[in-house]
Amino acid sequence: MKKRSPHNELDAFIKNPEYYKQLVNSLEAYAVVTVSADGTIKSWDAGAERVLGYTATEVLGKSHEMFFTKEDIQHDVPNRQLKNALIDTKSLNEGWRLKKNGERFWATGFVFPLRNKKGKLMGFTKIIRDRTERQTLEQHRYRLLDIEKAAHAETNRVIAMLAEGVMVFDMGGKIQYTNSSAQKILGLSEEALTKIDPHDIHWQAIREDGTPYTTETHPVLITIATGKPVRNAVMGIERPQDKAMVWILVNSSLLSHSEKQEPYAVVVSFVDITVRKNLEQQKDIFIGTASHELKTPLTSLTLFSELLRAQAKKSGHKQLIDLSGMIHAQTDRLIHLMNDLLDVSRIQSGKLELHYQKFDINKAISDIISFLQQTTTSHTIIFKSTYKEGKVSADKDRIGQVVTNLLTNAIKYSPKADSVIVKVRSTKDRVCVDVQDFGEGIPKHEQTKIFERFFRTEFAKQKNVAGFGLGLNITSEIVKRHKGALSVKSEPGKGSTFSFWIPL
Ligand code: ADP
Repeated sequence: MKKRSPHNELDAFIKNPEYYKQLVNSLEAYAVVTVSADGTIKSWDAGAERVLGYTATEVLGKSHEMFFTKEDIQHDVPNRQLKNALIDTKSLNEGWRLKKNGERFWATGFVFPLRNKKGKLMGFTKIIRDRTERQTLEQHRYRLLDIEKAAHAETNRVIAMLAEGVMVFDMGGKIQYTNSSAQKILGLSEEALTKIDPHDIHWQAIREDGTPYTTETHPVLITIATGKPVRNAVMGIERPQDKAMVWILVNSSLLSHSEKQEPYAVVVSFVDITVRKNLEQQKDIFIGTASHELKTPLTSLTLFSELLRAQAKKSGHKQLIDLSGMIHAQTDRLIHLMNDLLDVSRIQSGKLELHYQKFDINKAISDIISFLQQTTTSHTIIFKSTYKEGKVSADKDRIGQVVTNLLTNAIKYSPKADSVIVKVRSTKDRVCVDVQDFGEGIPKHEQTKIFERFFRTEFAKQKNVAGFGLGLNITSEIVKRHKGALSVKSEPGKGSTFSFWIPL
C-alpha cells in the first residue's frame, strides 16, 4: 500500500466537514453564528460562546433578537440586518449588543445570506466581533480632540482680547498672525501688517536714542538667529497714516511644540508706552532746561563766594571767612547735583555721548588722586598698578568721573578708616580698576540695589551722609556704555571693593 504523505492527508482533510468546523472554531475573537431566514439560531461555535457568553444549548432554536438591545428591537434592527444582506449580498453592521450577563459590548460584523444551489435562501451566517475596547479608546480620543479644540479656541479668544499687541512671526521673519490690539497700536490692518518684513528699511524701528534697529539688534531677528528671548526692548515705529511715532515695549520668544522639537515661530508681545514715553521726554526736557538755566547763576555764585572769601581773608574777618566758605561748599553741592541730574537726563534720552581717545589710565588716575588728596586729610589714597603700559581707549573725562565717584564714595562711607586703595590691573582684553575701602560696608540685600537711581543704604540715610543716590547709577551707565561692567564686593563692618572693567 502506498504510504500517505502529510500533503495528501491535509488535502483530504480540507475536503472533510470537520475541517470547516475546526477552522470556524479557531477564529477566537469572532462569533460565527448561523440563523434561519426568520432569524432562528441554528449553529453556535466556540467563538460565539466566548464573545456572547451563551453555550450552544442555551441559544439554539431561539431568535437572534436576544442579542439586541430593546431600542434596536423597537427600531427593527435585527430584521433589517438580514434584509440588507439580501439587497447588498452582505450587510456590514456595528452597534451595541448584549452578552449573557446583560453587559453591553460594541459589536462589528457581517451578515451573509446562505443559498442552496438553486439560489433559494436558506438562512444567514453572522460574524460578530467584540470591539468595545477599540470603541472606548476612539471615543476617548475624540473627547480629547474636542477638549483640545475647545482649549485652542479659548486661547485664541483670550489672545484676541488682550490689551497687549501679539504677533507671530515665522522663522523667515514674516508676520503670520496679529491680534486686534497689535493692529490698533500700530494703526495698521492685519493685511498691511502681514506684509511687513523686519529687514525692510522702511519699517525700521528706532531705539530710544534715535538710532535704527539693525539685523543684529532687532528683537525678532535676534530671537530667530539665537533662539534667545528678548525682554523689554523699547522700539519707536512711525505710524504710516499720521506719521506719529508710536513707542512700544517689546518681548519676543521662540515657539516650539516641545522642548526637543525644532522651533517654528517667534511670538512677540508688546504694550503701547507712547504716553509714558512722551511724559518722560517732557520731564527730561524740563530737567535738562532747568539744570542748564541754573548753571549760569550757580557759576556766578561760586565766583562771588570765592571773591567774598578773598576779601574776607584780606580783612581777617573770621566769621565772613567761614560763611563765604559755606556758601562756596553749598554752591559746589548744587553744581554737583545739577551735573548729576543733567547726566541722568542724558542717559534717559540716550544722549550720553562718549568721546573716545587714547590715554594712559595710570596717569589719569594718579592726577585724580593728587587732586582729591589736596582736600582730603582724613584718608591716604594708595595707588597700585600692575598694568604698566597703562594704554586705554575710552572717554577720558567720563572714566575720570567714574573713578572720582568711586573714590569720593570710598572716603565718604569709611569715616573711621584712614586709607583707600586703588588698583589697576589688566587681562588679555580688559583693564580693571578696583577701589577698596575699609568702611561700613554694604549689607548683601542692598548690594544689588545701590546701582538704582536714588537708592541710598539705610546706613547712609541714618547717618545723614550727604548724597542723592545718583552717582553709582550714572557711574554704572558710563561703564556699560563703554561695553564694560561695574560690580561690588562688600562685607559689613570690613569695607567694600567697587570694581569696573572696560575692554582694551
Ligand atoms: P550717594 O550720592 O548717595 O553717595 P551713590 O549713587 O554714589 O549716591 O551711592 C548710592 C548708595 O550706595 C549710597 O547712598 C550708599 O548708601 C551706598 N554706597 C556707595 N558707595 C559705598 C561705599 N564705598 N561703602 C558703603 N556704601 C556705599
